[in-house]
Amino acid sequence: DAELSTVDPEVSRALAAELARQRGTLEMIASENFAPFAVLEAQGSVLTNKYAEGYPGRRYYGGCEHVDVIEQLAIERVKALFGAEHANVQPHSGAQANAAAMSALLEPGDTILGLDLAHGGHLTHGMRINFSGRLYNVVAYHVDKDTGLVDMAEVEQLAKEHKPKLIVAGWSAYPRHLDFARFKEIAEATGAKLMVDMAHFAGLVAAGLHPNPVPFADVVTTTTHKTLGGPRGGVILTGKDLAKKINSSVFPGQQGGPLEHVIAAKAVAFKIAASEEFKERQQRTLDGARILAERLLGAGFTVLTGGTDVHLVLVDLRESTLDGQQAEDLLHSAGITVNRNAVPFDPRPPMVTSGLRIGTAALASRGFGTVEFTEVSDVIAEVLHPGADLAGARARVEALAGKYPLYPGLS
Ligand code: PLP
Repeated sequence: DAELSTVDPEVSRALAAELARQRGTLEMIASENFAPFAVLEAQGSVLTNKYAEGYPGRRYYGGCEHVDVIEQLAIERVKALFGAEHANVQPHSGAQANAAAMSALLEPGDTILGLDLAHGGHLTHGMRINFSGRLYNVVAYHVDKDTGLVDMAEVEQLAKEHKPKLIVAGWSAYPRHLDFARFKEIAEATGAKLMVDMAHFAGLVAAGLHPNPVPFADVVTTTTHKTLGGPRGGVILTGKDLAKKINSSVFPGQQGGPLEHVIAAKAVAFKIAASEEFKERQQRTLDGARILAERLLGAGFTVLTGGTDVHLVLVDLRESTLDGQQAEDLLHSAGITVNRNAVPFDPRPPMVTSGLRIGTAALASRGFGTVEFTEVSDVIAEVLHPGADLAGARARVEALAGKYPLYPGLS
């Protein structure tokens, strides 16, 4: 069996270059992480070859005895991790998980209430040209202009006025905890179901460092590759009452054959997420984000909500001559990868923006602690100041990257 470098040198070269990029730069995109080697190994396995439509013990294909073991392990582990009665581990991604959850709970034309994309919500929470915006009647809630916090009075008022069938709590760019109990209260009072999309903060929940939405929500969706640090994919958690509906909505409702190689990698990630080492890593993730917010504030930058309770910081550049695009490019030139992000009430266009979203999960996985997070925060502040020493910053980034080698066994 010929190796990749022989079969396809072009792909092989680009893959090697990507490994070098991940090793040589500092990854601070808030939705990214470095999956442990064991997760990569499970995903890059012969499970790639297997069809397994259906669920463990009830498949439409033969030869599923081993994938049944694997999928059942993933299910039991993720249920235990989050205290859920039922789990579906088959969604190919977070967007697929949300599509399946919504299609289980809603009919086209029904009303949903979700956080505005421009205020930190996700595309699948009702963006106009996303499936969610096309299939459902979307009403959006917002953050408060002064505090930057989700305006729960508005959520309540909109829920009373529009009687949505589903309220979606969750975010892609928001630095604080949501009040799940209050969301549940509002949903119950207005006859809505509550869905929490914990894609970003699931790793923190698993570690017990963030409130768990499972006791409050009818359905919880997540990705497995952000703070959770597993393979790219999705999961849906529910109570027993919705188990059947959710399962049939994923398959055959939305998907065909499950990606059992990814499900195996999810199982491994869930095992790791139950460990003390994982908890310690999530604590470093949180500490790193707090340090980043403090150092940036100290250097004169504005940070949305004045800080963070999670793994990310949102830098507000509305008052700055530097826009989001320029800031992202400057950091890239110094070897730090982040993404520009619209801030609420952003005066600049979506492709430019007035914000940066900076996350600490990937660097915590790499081994960063207080000293390294302080240094990288100071490098970011330096790069974003006028007349920055970019060559000096690049050298400091290389020193930090060199201190924590990534995937030392891989070539
Ligand atoms: N939900 C939230 C809150 C997200 O932030 C994201 C991804 O950024 C998703 C869902 C979608 O996940 P995926 O990219 O796996 O479809």
